[in-house]
Amino acid sequence: MSRESLQEIVCCVGQPVAGNPTQYMMEKALAAADLDWRYLTLEVSPEDLGDAVRGMKVLGFRGGNFAIPHKVAAIEYLDELSESAQLIGAVNCFNRLGDRLIGENTDGKGFIQSLREVTDPSGKRVVILGAGGAARAIAVEMALASAGHVTIVNRTESRGAELAGLLGDRLDTSAEFVVWDGNYEVPAGTQLLINATSIGLNDAAARVPIAAGSLAGSMVVADVIAGAVDTWLVREAADRGCTTLNGLGMLINQAVIGFTIWTGAKPDVEVMREAVEEFFGL
Ligand code: NDP
Repeated sequence: MSRESLQEIVCCVGQPVAGNPTQYMMEKALAAADLDWRYLTLEVSPEDLGDAVRGMKVLGFRGGNFAIPHKVAAIEYLDELSESAQLIGAVNCFNRLGDRLIGENTDGKGFIQSLREVTDPSGKRVVILGAGGAARAIAVEMALASAGHVTIVNRTESRGAELAGLLGDRLDTSAEFVVWDGNYEVPAGTQLLINATSIGLNDAAARVPIAAGSLAGSMVVADVIAGAVDTWLVREAADRGCTTLNGLGMLINQAVIGFTIWTGAKPDVEVMREAVEEFFGL
């Protein structure tokens, strides 16, 4: 315990948020960096989000993370957005600058950093399953990383078409939208397939509706879901010889970026990785 009675506070706000590993990882990283900060996990309903953000502001919180379902709704309660958060239309992170709360999005950047450990997205033919907050963050960062062609596959047409339009019109990236209806055949020539839906969250055995036979060993297959067990998609892809990536790297890397935004310090990434693995019992 510090001799000071006031600590800097950062937090994760979501619902349901129990089981989120970020507090465990951040507290280990803060201690390793010798920072007497506190990271809280706060269960907040959508109806109470505005009051919660106003409360965090007057209570002097230094920043935090927004988890499901607040990543889009939180925008209206923040004072300003970073350029990528504006493009993405969602925030997973906020930072205090003076008395202003600035929304950021580190999900896509965290994903790309993790992906670079296995492949460079530049020039690649990419298929993204989903068009929600995580998919939007990844798609925008894919475009900024010069992906060759991006196909958005989504169940709800309006969301998917809007995202493909954003990539084409605002980011000058070759992009198309495909409605997800039945088992999706991954096109031959796809180099990178990403599940950015919530299928697999809290149920690693949940099957992503794709034609498993269309997965080729030359593909990199990534899932945003991070947990104690690899998802159905990651296991299926690994069995077919694909290079696979689970959501742990994305989780750690987006947290590394958030930590640096709030504290100005670089965290010990190994401490964070060990903490997440310990949390999930890996
Ligand atoms: P959203 O609710 O914004 O989006 C969910 C997406 O999943 C939508 O595209 C939705 O389609 C699609 N979807 C859900 N169920 C189905 C289904 N049965 N069939 C087809 N599509 C489906 O969630 P987020 O984008 O914020 O989060 C998605 C996932 O990403 C979560 O599981 C979250 O935990 C994970 N995530 C992981 C991170 C990490 O660091 N590893 C970081 C951020 C998120 P539709 O539009 O049709 O509803």
